[in-house]
Amino acid sequence: MPGIGIPTLEASLPPIVKRNYGKWISHEHPRPGVIKHDSETGEACYTVRAAMPPNARVSTATVRKLCAVADEFAEGFFRITQRNSIEYVGVPPGRIDELIARLAALGLPVGGTNRSLHNTTCCTGYMHCHLAATDPAAIMQNVSAMLLREYQTDTLPAKLKISGSGCINNCGEGSCADIGIVGVHRDLPPIHVEKLKGCELPLVISVCPVGAIRPKGPGMVEIDPKRCIHCPACSVACGAFAPIGSADGDGVAIVVGGKSSNTGDGPAIAKLVIPYLPNNPPHWPEVTKAVKTIVDAWVANARLDERLGEWINRIGWERFFQRTGLPMSLKLVDGYDARALEYARSNVRFRW
Ligand code: SF4
Ligand code: SF4
Repeated sequence: MPGIGIPTLEASLPPIVKRNYGKWISHEHPRPGVIKHDSETGEACYTVRAAMPPNARVSTATVRKLCAVADEFAEGFFRITQRNSIEYVGVPPGRIDELIARLAALGLPVGGTNRSLHNTTCCTGYMHCHLAATDPAAIMQNVSAMLLREYQTDTLPAKLKISGSGCINNCGEGSCADIGIVGVHRDLPPIHVEKLKGCELPLVISVCPVGAIRPKGPGMVEIDPKRCIHCPACSVACGAFAPIGSADGDGVAIVVGGKSSNTGDGPAIAKLVIPYLPNNPPHWPEVTKAVKTIVDAWVANARLDERLGEWINRIGWERFFQRTGLPMSLKLVDGYDARALEYARSNVRFRW
């Protein structure tokens, strides 16, 4: 019903998409950053994709410029993709060069299609989340700059997706990307006893995913340091546990081999390969170096169309560590399965 809920999809579609809705039969990538969709009606639709800034943060001034570009090149429509790229759909093929130059003048590189780095994505992190252990947007800015050539060319073995999250809540979905950059706290959450009175202690105890919080006398709880995985869940449930983290304890972990789609080997959760790198703004050299090391090893050894996780599945984790030169530890990769049997599902919300 008009006026209730979000605007209708029909009102948001470019005319060429409306005309060919449900009639698309194939697509190809005539050049990096450009997708051509063919319809059974005989029409071909050209889409130009460009990278947006990390976390798709733009000013109204920039949005007005993007809208002006849409008016001129794409009948007044654009869309933001799941990976925070901007796409102009229905661009006349003879004007693609002109559009690419216009976007470049706005600082938006065209690319991120086919066998390239697809735009990096991340959660808000420090920008406005109190749980963050790192600044994923700033890290992604550096990673994107380092891999700009890989974004603008189709020269990788397969598509590459790099995602960042400010903490292990993983709102940025690092765990289902080829490379995930995940903020980690290493400190126990503080317990501000004077604030405990304002909290529902049974709720706080139940919210801990590993059962690390337990009662300790009337109106008091304690944290088992051997169980705590330094997630920020308790600090969400109760202000007595905040803020979690510290300048020395917080940092970044790297996970690899994740994927959300059902293509190839199917969906996969990324595995931990680097447990901790320091927060080192503004350029995070340790993090960018680790990402480059992993990407270089994959590029040098993967087969065509083999995503990073599929390459690892073929050669095995031991060889992955040999090829990348990253230090291997029994505490990596397996996701602490052995310890998980002890406690991961032993919290008060136990389910199997
Ligand atoms: S992943 Fe963590 S830091 Fe990022 S938005 Fe979610 S809770 Fe906040
Ligand atoms: S909720 Fe997370 S941070 Fe808090 S005690 Fe449990 S594991 Fe540790």
